Amino acid sequence: MNKKTIRDIDIFGKKVLCRVDFNVPMSDGKITDDNRIVEALPTIKYIIENGGAAILMSHLGRPDGKVVEKYSLKAVAARLGELLGKEVVMADDVVGKDANAKAAALQSGDVMLIENLRFEAGEEENDKKFVDALAKLGDVYVNDAFGTAHRKHASTYGLAKVLPNAIGFLIEKELKMICDTMENPKRPLVGILGGAKVADKLPIIDKLIDVCDTLIIGGGMAYTFLKAQGYTIGESLVDDSKLEDTKAMVAKAQEKGMELLIPVDFVVSKAIDDVANKMYTKDQNIPEGYMGVDIGKKTTKMFKKAIKSAKTVIWNGPLGVFEQEAFAVGTYKIAKAVTKVKGTTIIGGGDSGSAIINMGLAHKITHISTGGGASLKLFEGKVLPGVDVIENVD
Ligand code: AMP
Repeated sequence: MNKKTIRDIDIFGKKVLCRVDFNVPMSDGKITDDNRIVEALPTIKYIIENGGAAILMSHLGRPDGKVVEKYSLKAVAARLGELLGKEVVMADDVVGKDANAKAAALQSGDVMLIENLRFEAGEEENDKKFVDALAKLGDVYVNDAFGTAHRKHASTYGLAKVLPNAIGFLIEKELKMICDTMENPKRPLVGILGGAKVADKLPIIDKLIDVCDTLIIGGGMAYTFLKAQGYTIGESLVDDSKLEDTKAMVAKAQEKGMELLIPVDFVVSKAIDDVANKMYTKDQNIPEGYMGVDIGKKTTKMFKKAIKSAKTVIWNGPLGVFEQEAFAVGTYKIAKAVTKVKGTTIIGGGDSGSAIINMGLAHKITHISTGGGASLKLFEGKVLPGVDVIENVD
């Protein structure tokens, strides 16, 4: 890794504009999981303990360039204040009068949070005027928002073009864990991919067929593979425009002699929230009027056997509709199997990360990434724009 980290830049007496990922899950105005705030603490503490003032920036949800009160970061400022044990100055706007006045008054050791970056359309557009308005608030720029490092936004990309810059400790840790593992994995390397959208994950399936010894496919994605193989899938989630692509993936795996595991039985029901009509199929075929909502018992056994032999596991996406307890059994059993692996286990954030955390199994995993999309890009071997744009060490 040849990128400057926060240790390589001068922050003493400086106002450090730091992009963090405070896009936390909220319900009724309350934070339901503060893990992302906790993960940002090392960099924030380093800034204030080394003579800097921290001006923190984040997005929350998708307000699409408008002020939407439910996406305000005020609750985040309050939680951050509790975690740091000190006051966090909250600005009422992003780059307006209040943010400018409060930023100007900051002293070394102070922490300030500006309002949701996505209240301004210029953020996602990486608009130059908005970049300049953000840059006016501080002296140096640190990107520590791994969860948005795959985006080319004003706060994740544009600022590095106009201010001295570095990455923070969270991005450094994520890159080290994921890139080092992908560059030189202990084998067998087993990949597990679940989740809903096959179209989003085709490039990564393609890449993982190249690098993995075994690739397990589960979740809503599996039914497109099964339909393409001629099985009946009832009302299950399917992307008919990707049938040929999945056929090509199966053919590629066969040609390479790698093991591509697709479910052989299912838990099905009449709707994704219909627990009452839950039943098991005896094979890959799903009857009319039913949809696949979880992997079945034979599949779980087959997947567990493959995971047991692994020395490295990478995993993204739940294997069923895990939001319903009745359909979360497959994901849970696979999670348990992953925790028993004697080797490196990496969970690529998003839903599978939450599933592991909610199951109380996080401490048995080598690394749970804070970025679903960003970690997928790294699994795919891609460069993250928010990292690429940072200055190299001399
Ligand atoms: P993704 O964002 O692509 O990782 O997808 C995560 C979502 O996939 C979760 O909300 C799951 O409920 C959903 N999912 C997993 N398995 C299925 C399934 N069999 N049918 C429908 N949705 C599913």
